[in-house]
Amino acid sequence: MFQAIYQRRYLVSFKAARLTQQVTDVLVIGGGVAGLRAAIAAADEGVDVMIVTKDRIQESNTWYAQGGVAAALNPPDNFEAHI
Ligand SMILES: Cc1cc2nc3c(=O)[nH]c(=O)nc-3n(C[C@H](O)[C@H](O)[C@H](O)COP(=O)(O)OP(=O)(O)OC[C@H]3O[C@@H](n4cnc5c(N)ncnc54)[C@H](O)[C@@H]3O)c2cc1C
Repeated sequence: MFQAIYQRRYLVSFKAARLTQQVTDVLVIGGGVAGLRAAIAAADEGVDVMIVTKDRIQESNTWYAQGGVAAALNPPDNFEAHI
């Protein structure tokens, strides 16, 4: 009944065994601030880290916010006021 869920579907047919393979200890999906912070934390543990993004590294909210990301760091500013 749920067979279709387990079938892999691709836009084009290909054989995975013929593709270039990359091996890493930690795979981070996303190259925005969250992914990069996770990658730094993982790298600090001395493991190999690879980051993949769905597009160029410049295509992220993090990149578009280069003018500065406001954050509540010190009182009297706070998280609720920041929202
Ligand atoms: C102009 C602007 C100003 C901003 N100003 C502020 C501010 O002042 N204060 C504040 O707190 N926030 C601000 N933000 C929001 C803040 O920038 C984002 O909340 C934050 O950067 C999100 O980081 P992220 O790593 O979660 O996501 P993103 O930076 O969006 O990164 C997502 C990553 O995931 C990848 N990805 C997504 N889907 C897939 C997929 N299917 N497969 C592989 N990779 C995938 C993308 O390619 C990208 O690399 C602003 C945003 C913008 C655009």
